[in-house]
Amino acid sequence: MVITRVTNGYRKPEGIDEMATALQPELKQDLVRYGARGVDLCFNCGNCTAVCPLSLDGTSFPRKLVRYAQLGLGEKLATAPEPWLCYYCGECSATCPREATPGETMAALRRYAIAQYDPSGIASLLYRFPWFLVAFTLLLGVVLGFFHLSIQVAKHTVDGVTFPAHWAAFNWIPYETIHMLGVFVGALMGILVLSGFANAARLMLKPHGGIRSLGKHKAGDFGQAFRRLGRELVTMRRQAECSDEGEGAEPWYLRARFAHGTIMGGFMLLLAATSLDFFFVFLLKMEFYGIARPLGIIGGIIMLYGLLVYTWKRMRKATPNTTVTTPADVWILFFLIVLDITGFALLLITMNQWQGVASDVILLVHSVMAMELVLLFSMTKIAHALYRPMALYFHFLKNPETTA
Ligand code: SF4
Ligand code: SF4
Repeated sequence: MVITRVTNGYRKPEGIDEMATALQPELKQDLVRYGARGVDLCFNCGNCTAVCPLSLDGTSFPRKLVRYAQLGLGEKLATAPEPWLCYYCGECSATCPREATPGETMAALRRYAIAQYDPSGIASLLYRFPWFLVAFTLLLGVVLGFFHLSIQVAKHTVDGVTFPAHWAAFNWIPYETIHMLGVFVGALMGILVLSGFANAARLMLKPHGGIRSLGKHKAGDFGQAFRRLGRELVTMRRQAECSDEGEGAEPWYLRARFAHGTIMGGFMLLLAATSLDFFFVFLLKMEFYGIARPLGIIGGIIMLYGLLVYTWKRMRKATPNTTVTTPADVWILFFLIVLDITGFALLLITMNQWQGVASDVILLVHSVMAMELVLLFSMTKIAHALYRPMALYFHFLKNPETTA
């Protein structure tokens, strides 16, 4: 159904603008699968917008977004940068008179937005059907297991020493084939990330009037917005305004901002360690681990710390933003913790040159997790590292005077 705003004397319903707007009556039901379960309860009082510490005149939320969801305005939701401006403190949910859980709706709308940015359609399956992720993981396990493990059924003798039958990794697939698989997966990830990023920019620019409206800004505005974004990413000031740092706060080392910082910092160190490893060992063919290994160990430890803090907070349901836990929340924490721990186990295995079924299974689990992380990077919750900075940039560009 398409309705067009009648201008003279007609007061437009909330969420309807000058453009023809497609209504999707089935959208509300679909959004439930993304985690927006309280949309119908909202009676549009605006309390959530009033209490939200990050909602401004120019970019008010979450009431507006809940209203879009009620009306089935899919395009409005897909193009709205506001879900990314919310840090999910849960304050709005805690004070909603109808218990309509607007904070959870904002989280669901971020998932919905990721599904709209993703050209492959995988993100949509991922969020709407939890079994899809299990099937995807198992499929990856089978494919990698095929490449990775083979059974030497017979005992064999090398230099007079008899070895028992055992699992052996990579001993029958040509090295070039494995290398090409890695290149293919890396290229696929690059394509998915770039196309998701481009789609997000195209959609988020729509409410701003599209690419052409960027011409309204002076050259200095772009630089200023960029500097504000840089400051924000370093200090995470908005998250501090919207988090567990108020009165009666937990100690600093248990706060969301610190835990988030350790996860991000650890992730960056692990990425740096992997890149150095690739550079020295793979490209230069040097057995040099002097920088990569300590970086990887430090990165793994601090990331594990942040993940355990987040897990503990969810288990305690101590703050408004941890009262609802979706399968996507469980999966991302479980996934990153397993990836981290198996990474440490592999380090021990390599340093001690342990062999056996257990070592190979750990290697397989770690490979499956790492491959999944690479392939689904732009579709999971981790994708907020791509889309939140983009939304913040447009927000700072559009609102140069705001402090939030
Ligand atoms: S979500 Fe709750 S607080 Fe917000 S407008 Fe609806 S009823 Fe009011
Ligand atoms: S969860 Fe926090 S930041 Fe997000 S809309 Fe609600 S009050 Fe605002």
